[in-house]
Amino acid sequence: MSYDDTNIFAKILSGQIPCKKIYEDKFVLSFYDINPQKKIHALVIPKGRYSNLDDFSLNASSEEIVGLLKGINIVAKKLGISIDTGKGYRALVNIGEHGGQEVPHLHFHLFGGESTGRMIE
Ligand code: 5GP
Repeated sequence: MSYDDTNIFAKILSGQIPCKKIYEDKFVLSFYDINPQKKIHALVIPKGRYSNLDDFSLNASSEEIVGLLKGINIVAKKLGISIDTGKGYRALVNIGEHGGQEVPHLHFHLFGGESTGRMIE
């Protein structure tokens, strides 16, 4: 699947569309989801052009992969929901059509600030 440069997260990354930024470094950008499903609902996205998790796993460099995972922990800490700063959270990735992915740029959802309930409702 080729990357669609017109997707909404590509536009957020390029600054064409604003976001409520939580954190940014060389590898990731994190911002609040526009339609929060829990008290805290953050998104963490890689800066590289990756459509989904499979694309990322196959094509990202080791540095980018480590950068994204470290970024998730940094954001969770910043939000006070990581294991050492809070009560934990749910990280979720939707992949492709059956996964319910709407935006074709890889993103991790971080849900927290309250119990996240059953895994699949
Ligand atoms: P998906 O279903 O692809 O895993 O999740 C896409 C997420 O992006 C949804 O939770 C949706 O609310 C969020 N979203 C869609 N458009 C925007 C936007 O323009 N800004 C932000 N911050 N989030 C968005």
